Amino acid sequence: MTGLLDGHIALITGGGSGIGRGIALAFAEHGATIIAADINLAGAAETVAMIGGNAARAEALDVTDRAACNALAAKVKAEVGNLSILVNNAGIVRRATLDTENALNDWDDTIGINVNGVFNSTYAFLDQLKVTKGRIISIGSIQSFVHLRNCVAYTTSKHAVKGFTVALANELAPHGIRVNAIGPGVIRTPVSEKLIQSPERLAQLLTHIPMGRYGTPEDIAGPAVFLASDLARYVTGHTLVSDGGYLTV
Ligand code: NAP
Repeated sequence: MTGLLDGHIALITGGGSGIGRGIALAFAEHGATIIAADINLAGAAETVAMIGGNAARAEALDVTDRAACNALAAKVKAEVGNLSILVNNAGIVRRATLDTENALNDWDDTIGINVNGVFNSTYAFLDQLKVTKGRIISIGSIQSFVHLRNCVAYTTSKHAVKGFTVALANELAPHGIRVNAIGPGVIRTPVSEKLIQSPERLAQLLTHIPMGRYGTPEDIAGPAVFLASDLARYVTGHTLVSDGGYLTV
């Protein structure tokens, strides 16, 4: 253990799968106490089992439920202590054009989870983060910068994450809280599995990734550890892209 996050208490929304799980495992390796919060409690429990020991717990959380976010914040404060690292990772992607039947639902769900969910979790833990002079990391996307076809709501939501990060970094700097985001490229998780399993789509994708491979959750966990740690003590308001060079093409 390198101890970069020794003494920290970190909550990761969507910590029961994919990128959130990768971040939870890496944070634990670096000494943090972990709360994996996910709408899928079984997934969160699996993350905790992978961490092992007593330094992790799983909690059920739907980030769209503001009251549930507030209740979890109170529970964490009472049972674990004041949070010092919040990772707003829970998110969904729905790929379809606006002229499809589900467009309205897709818009509401995507904005509800990817934007309002980020706000709800942040707002619920703000008092604790002020006490600990904590760190907030939200998971944006390369779509915080560009648009990939057939997902207007998702691109909008991830641009919002970047804007939220800039605005909040400014507002919270006087409280000693750093606020950053990460912009993953194509990362192998259940969300991207279908794309990666399609040989034509994968080949086409790789022409757009100079490093010649898709990413893994570990490729996002490293930047997350950096942003959460004191190595990044002067970094705030930034969206750190980890995409194998996707945005350079
Ligand atoms: P994932 O494997 O599906 O993990 C997301 C987790 O969040 C799942 O356990 C999911 O539960 C949970 N979740 C969904 N709705 C929730 C809610 N309302 N409240 C709490 N938890 C909820 O996805 P991922 O690929 O790791 O994505 C994580 C983040 O990275 C997302 O913000 C995504 O937009 C972003 N991202 C991913 C990629 C990529 O290529 N994978 C690229 C750029 C950005 P269920 O499975 O039960 O829905």
